[in-house]
Amino acid sequence: MPRIPAVRNRLRDNPVSHPKRVLLAAPRGYCAGVDRAVIAVEKALEHYGSPVYVRKQIVHNIHVVSTLEKKGAIFVDEVGEVPEGSHIVFSAHGVSPAVVQGAADRNLEAIDATCPLVTKVHREAVRFARDDFEILLIGHAGHEEVEGTMGHAPERTTLVNSPADVALLQVKDPDNLVWLSQTTLSVDETMETVRLLRERFPNLHNPPSDDICYATQNRQVAIKKVAEEAELVIVVGSANSSNTVRLVDVALENGARAAYRVDYASEIRQEWLDGVATVGVTSGASVPEVLVQEVLDDLADAGYTDVRQVVTAEEDLMFSLPKELRKDASGQADSRGLGGRTRQLDWQKK
Ligand code: SF4
Repeated sequence: MPRIPAVRNRLRDNPVSHPKRVLLAAPRGYCAGVDRAVIAVEKALEHYGSPVYVRKQIVHNIHVVSTLEKKGAIFVDEVGEVPEGSHIVFSAHGVSPAVVQGAADRNLEAIDATCPLVTKVHREAVRFARDDFEILLIGHAGHEEVEGTMGHAPERTTLVNSPADVALLQVKDPDNLVWLSQTTLSVDETMETVRLLRERFPNLHNPPSDDICYATQNRQVAIKKVAEEAELVIVVGSANSSNTVRLVDVALENGARAAYRVDYASEIRQEWLDGVATVGVTSGASVPEVLVQEVLDDLADAGYTDVRQVVTAEEDLMFSLPKELRKDASGQADSRGLGGRTRQLDWQKK
């Protein structure tokens, strides 16, 4: 992935009362589902040539999207915008059955890059709806993942947008309820919502396993640890990335005096660093490591050259590519058949 040319030596090395340092959260950045989705678009371009259409942003990161656009991907909002017979990739956030049907109606060749952990929630929704449960889906209105999940059980799902929604909920049968959630929420806020739900509906059923994914949880645990010691936290990621925005919230709730989200290092402002000895840095699950490295480079210009990793978990999960892409054009198994850590480290090379 090409590096955005940084404007270097922009930040001044002003004195502060303690030695300057950076605490770098780990895990951070790419998760297995994002890695898989991005490779899926690249491989689709290799196999079928440009253009390959992608419904919505493949992952919520403007740098990733603009890089893929330069390689020949065309991002659209709906399948109706795609010429009949074209290849279309569904994003990591997942789609409803109605979208799949819409693509089939236009004879589109669909490649489903939905993260397997989102697909797991879809399957839960279908199963609970089939078993006559009413589903309370904790998530953010308008988020693509929420739209996709609700689309799997539209008649039986009610969205719970925030803890404040709980008091207003109208349900058909308080003894036949189950909660599910978006994969990228704040763990603490979601547990508070569940607590309030259970207060109102004591017989509420739990999902079979956590819906908030491993990557979201791990990044929140790491930034909590960093925020205990950092006066300022910088979170790299895009404004529409739910897990990125949650990292800012979690940092502020766990000790950071200030926390800001940036897409690029060039957005860091000199005044954020006033009087700050310890800066925490992390990135959302859709952020390539090169963007974090640029933040570290700029912070080094400002005197923050002592960088220590705060490691709270190791990640090595990998997912198979979408089945449509597991073989190359000659029908052979592809050596890049997996998304995950190996590939991620490749991309970290400058
Ligand atoms: S953040 Fe979680 S659910 Fe979303 S793509 Fe990554 S692993 Fe999958």
